[in-house]
Amino acid sequence: VAKEQGRNRFHYFTASMQEMAQAKMHLTNDLRNALAQNEFQLVYQPIIEFSSGRVQKAEALIRWNHPVRGAISPMEFIPVAEETGLIVDIGNWVFHEAARQTQQWRQRYQPDFQLSINTSPLQLRADASSLQHWQRSLKSVGLPGSALAIEITESLLMDAGFAERLIAMHELGIEVSLDDFGTGYSSMSYLKKFDIDYLKIDKSFVGNLQKGSSDFAICEAVIVMAHKLGIMVIAEGIETSSQLSILDTMGCDYGQGYLFSHPVSALELEKLFKADLKSLSVPNLG
Ligand code: C2E
Ligand code: MG
Ligand code: MG
Ligand code: MG
Repeated sequence: VAKEQGRNRFHYFTASMQEMAQAKMHLTNDLRNALAQNEFQLVYQPIIEFSSGRVQKAEALIRWNHPVRGAISPMEFIPVAEETGLIVDIGNWVFHEAARQTQQWRQRYQPDFQLSINTSPLQLRADASSLQHWQRSLKSVGLPGSALAIEITESLLMDAGFAERLIAMHELGIEVSLDDFGTGYSSMSYLKKFDIDYLKIDKSFVGNLQKGSSDFAICEAVIVMAHKLGIMVIAEGIETSSQLSILDTMGCDYGQGYLFSHPVSALELEKLFKADLKSLSVPNLG
C-alpha cells in the first residue's frame, strides 16, 4: 500500500510539475510576442510633493494586456522576463515610452515634471547595452535625463559594475532612486558609498504607523538618516490620511499610494496635474 501511495504521489507530483512547466512555457512564448503585438501599456501613479501638494512626479508601472488572459500582473511576468532575458528589450520599450510621454507632459502641463521608471538588475549589468539605448531615446525624444529617475532595488548595489553604471546614469542627468528600501539585503555602507538621489520607503513600513510602533521608529529614523546623507525620501503605499499626516510631520518629502490615486492611464494623470492632491485627500487639512 505504501509503495502504491508513494507511486501515486509521485505520479501526481509529476503531472502538476508538468502542468506548471507547460503554463510557464506558454507564458514565455506569449511574452516573446507581446512587444511586437503592442500588448504592453504604462500606467502612472502620481507622486505628491508634500511641500506643495501637487503631482510633481509619477511612477510608471507596466501592464500586460494578454489577448486571452486579460491583464497579467508584473509580479507574474517580470520574473519570467528576467529569466528569459526578454526584460532587456521590454525595459528599453518602457524607457522609450516613458521618455516620450514625459517630454509631452513637461511641454504641455508641467515643466519640472519627473517620471520614475522601474528597472531589473539585469538591465544594468555590463553586457546589457541599456544605457546606450536610453541615451539614444533621450536624444530622439529631446528630453533631458533629469526628467527621469531610475528605480533600482537594493540587490543591485552589490553588483560589481554598479558604481560605473551609476556614474553613467548621472552623466546623462538621470536620477537614481532606491526602491522598496528596507526589504532587501542592504547595508548602510552602500548608502555612504553611492550617490543615491531618492530612497523609497517600502509600503510594508507604512501600513502600521501609529506612534510607538516599530514601523513609526523605522520611518522616522530612515527619513532623518536620508536627509543627513543628502537623500530625498518618497513613501509608498500611503492609504490613509493619518499615515500621510504622520509622514508629513516626520519631514518625508514625497508620497504615493491609493489615498492619492491608484495607478491610472496617461489621460487620467493629465487631469491630476492641476490638483492639490494633498488637500483633496485630507479634507480637514484645509
Ligand atoms: P513597486 O515598484 O514597488 O511598485 C509599487 C506597487 O505597489 C505597484 O504594484 C503599485 O500599483 C502598488 N501600490 C501603489 N500604491 C499602493 C497602495 O497604497 N497600497 C498597496 N497595497 N499597493 C500600492 P504593481 O503595479 O502591481 O507593480 C508591482 C511591481 O512590479 C513593482 O513594485 C515593480 O517592482 C514591478 N514593476 C512594475 N512595472 C515595472 C517595469 O516597468 N519594469 C520592471 N522591471 N518592474 C516593474
Ligand atoms: Mg517602483
Ligand atoms: Mg516600490
Ligand atoms: Mg514596494
